[in-house]
Amino acid sequence: MRGMTGPEIIGLFDKYVMPTYGRYPLVFVRGKGTRVWDADGKEYLDFGGGIAVNVLGHAALASALAKQADILVHCSNLYYTEPQGLLAKKLVELVGVEGKCFFCNSGGEANEALYKLARKFGHDAGKYEVLTFTNSFHGRTLAGISATGQEKVKKGFEPMVDGFRHVPFNDLDAVAAAIGPKTAAILIEPVQGESGITPAKPEFLRGLRKLCDERGLLLMYDEVQCGIGRTGEFCAWRAVAPDVVPDAMSWAKGLAGGFPIGAAWARKPYADLLGPGSHASTFGGTPLACAVALSVIEEIEKENLMANARGLGAHLMAKLRLVPGVTAVRGLGVMIGVDTAMENRPLVNKAAARGLLLVPAGTNTVRFLPPLNITMAEADEAVGRFAEALA
Ligand SMILES: *Cc1c(COP(=O)(O)O)cnc(C)c1O
Repeated sequence: MRGMTGPEIIGLFDKYVMPTYGRYPLVFVRGKGTRVWDADGKEYLDFGGGIAVNVLGHAALASALAKQADILVHCSNLYYTEPQGLLAKKLVELVGVEGKCFFCNSGGEANEALYKLARKFGHDAGKYEVLTFTNSFHGRTLAGISATGQEKVKKGFEPMVDGFRHVPFNDLDAVAAAIGPKTAAILIEPVQGESGITPAKPEFLRGLRKLCDERGLLLMYDEVQCGIGRTGEFCAWRAVAPDVVPDAMSWAKGLAGGFPIGAAWARKPYADLLGPGSHASTFGGTPLACAVALSVIEEIEKENLMANARGLGAHLMAKLRLVPGVTAVRGLGVMIGVDTAMENRPLVNKAAARGLLLVPAGTNTVRFLPPLNITMAEADEAVGRFAEALA
């Protein structure tokens, strides 16, 4: 912006920004499509996608932003606005199950709406507990770290919010045994993201649905990372087990392609559980955020980007499996986890040095989360740079 050097910008962070992130020593100044440029003018292929956010790549929102910014940016949820109504309709149609949406600004907040929905649902029966899974990730709010099945996010912030217990992922017997008289809901990522890209087994989701039906629990999907077409389906659960319809779901990350927005969806009859005065967000569902989200979804549909994600995701996975040093490749669409013998942070640094941005997950996994509109040439170039980094 002001033409500062990379080290000068890092200096600002050292002095003025809370050190909550372990940042890589890279300073980015601009992007276009799948590429970004750092403060020295070096070009990178961005296969981190802002952590599964930039579904259309960089600098793809300008016209939608400018158009709505000139009409109405914010006016509060005391009133009705067309973009919020149209986005809710679009999302419900994409889910393909009658329901309603609540809008907020992030994934952590979208999950908060699910926890409150579960508590409201179970309240009169004295049920409030939400079962979540080992190695899950549900955000960094206090309830989010309580829901997350990883010790490292909780450490130093105890006591946790009451009413969350973790059970082993893909282990139906363990879930059946864990359900108690206080259990109101089960929350699961259909494809676990932060811990290393692990899809749920279709029969596991089917078993959870059956347990929820038998025991009177809500089945809730956290689609914050895996949703919005990333797996090649708008809803990731349709790529995993298309018949296992949830009762509620959360979205954020890719929903407006980089503009902040989060959303929760609940199907009938749970869609009206959170009544007037029960939940709110000042910025939730502004005309600006909703207009941008609508334009992103329209672009995904118009350009057939979910089919592109399926095709190029399969191509990427096949090529990555051939790279020497790769020990496992997991994923669906363009949500791909690659295991190597190397620790992931040094590998991410080596890839960045060769002009490829990736995101670490777990300990030995790197994530490929490129835009849904990547080309074959970009995919092949990324695999080439990755192979060099790993060599
Ligand atoms: C990123 C993420 C969140 C948290 O989203 P924020 O927007 O950072 O609050 C929640 N759940 C999953 C699965 C995520 O990947």
